[in-house]
Amino acid sequence: MVSRVIPVEPFDLVVFGGTGDLARRKILPALFRRFRAGQIGPDARIIGAARSELEDAEYRDFAAEAITEAGYDAGCDDDASEMLSRFLSMVAYVTLDARGDTGWDDLETLIGGPHPEATAERRVRAFYFSVGPGLFGDLAERLHDHGLSDAESRIVVEKPFGRDLASARELNLVLARHFDETQIYRIDHYLGKETVQNLMAVRFGNMLFEPLWNSQYVDHIQITVAEDVGVGGRGGYYDRSGAMRDMMQNHLMQLLCLIAMEPPAKFDPDAVRDEKLKVIRALDPVTPGDVVRGQYTGSDGRPGYREEVGDPESTTESFVALKARISNWRWAGTPFYMRTGKRLRERASEIAVVFKDTPHSIFGVEGGDHRNILTIKLQPNEGIELGVTIKEPGPGGMRLVDVPLDMTFAEALGPDSADFPDAYERLIMDVIRGNQTLFMRGDEVEAAWAWTDPVIEDWQTGGEPPLGYETGSAGPDDALMLMHRDGRRWRDIKA
Ligand code: NAD
Repeated sequence: MVSRVIPVEPFDLVVFGGTGDLARRKILPALFRRFRAGQIGPDARIIGAARSELEDAEYRDFAAEAITEAGYDAGCDDDASEMLSRFLSMVAYVTLDARGDTGWDDLETLIGGPHPEATAERRVRAFYFSVGPGLFGDLAERLHDHGLSDAESRIVVEKPFGRDLASARELNLVLARHFDETQIYRIDHYLGKETVQNLMAVRFGNMLFEPLWNSQYVDHIQITVAEDVGVGGRGGYYDRSGAMRDMMQNHLMQLLCLIAMEPPAKFDPDAVRDEKLKVIRALDPVTPGDVVRGQYTGSDGRPGYREEVGDPESTTESFVALKARISNWRWAGTPFYMRTGKRLRERASEIAVVFKDTPHSIFGVEGGDHRNILTIKLQPNEGIELGVTIKEPGPGGMRLVDVPLDMTFAEALGPDSADFPDAYERLIMDVIRGNQTLFMRGDEVEAAWAWTDPVIEDWQTGGEPPLGYETGSAGPDDALMLMHRDGRRWRDIKA
């Protein structure tokens, strides 16, 4: 089955920070892939805007290199080469200072200034704020001053959205001065993953799972986002942030919401986001005994966290594990264990819904312990798997064995189904289509900070340093204890 590509309307996309790392690694390659797939037509315009003084041709070279680096290059294939040239002909560049006057008139001239009132003349304008959050307010204000913040305009903002509740509120206020909430697209690229959306399809498109999706049948849920790399070149940024702010408050919380939310009445942006918000608001505060933070130590010739960030005293966590409880009818009594960290055993992210034991085993001891586990794998490969218990084939008696039911349906849907668009491709196309379902609403982000802030404050006032853990491990031993003491265990971190 070939996935259908529905072309989007012509649009102008301005990438502020167009010469930055995110534009190079993600945004420009994603746009090229959508163009190559026929979703972006030749009438679109993509405008890089940043402080560097570049000509259009130089920026096109930058874009071509970015696409090549991402592995989407033309190679020596003539058709692909022609495709790349056509894509680059839609790309332009403006030298612009978010904080000054430089370049704004040029941008206005390039995209035509304020839209005329006649609706037929209007086309979608998206402004991607791929710059530090300190510039969001300046950009919003200048877009407004130049008449570019009309009803057809959308802004896309990247994480981090604040570093605590107060700063997130401030950012929301700054943006709300010139843009309506329906025009603001806060990116969490985890929500753009194919499997995350498939999770909603599996939950709400089937009769099978929803009746079991509660504390009566689900023993617990585990969410793991493990990286095998350290902080590397991002040390400076990361050390001011840490795993709680960088991962838990956004990506893991979003996954928790999708797993735990009630079925929305419709699959529409506000209906989905209302339900997600209710989950966050139903979370109990995390008690200090239910959270473990860690920091990787040096081993095998690889530097430890403190060496990497250049601060021998740093108490920033590169790992956090916690037990969350949701106080509502559906989930009271079912814990959600979440962990994320760097320099762990492997790069592997998954959500595991672990169902309860059968009320009585008719197979006795010989049958062994078996549980159904629904695993939603997010990284490195995406897919959904349901572990079911069956009889081990052969004449050896009634021995039971767990086998995975693969629900990625790669075979049923054909080879194209495995060629998922990258999360950024899907999310940028959603911005152009005006679909906010996979973007975080301002109140959601604030509620998530309101939940994580007390944990971080507790660490800051408590003065206890994070626990050390070895590179290639599953984090500090205390994280294992978090589950052991409840008679449960983490799943292996493996791709
Ligand atoms: P970067 O430092 O590589 O690039 C910043 C860009 O902003 C450059 O193009 C620079 O010219 C431009 N810029 C800086 N000051 C400016 C000014 N006054 N006026 C106009 N342009 C200005 O940063 P990045 O890694 O591309 O990240 C951009 C944003 O995306 C940040 O908010 C970051 O937190 C977020 N983000 C980045 C990644 C990533 O993988 N790089 C991932 C998630 C989120």
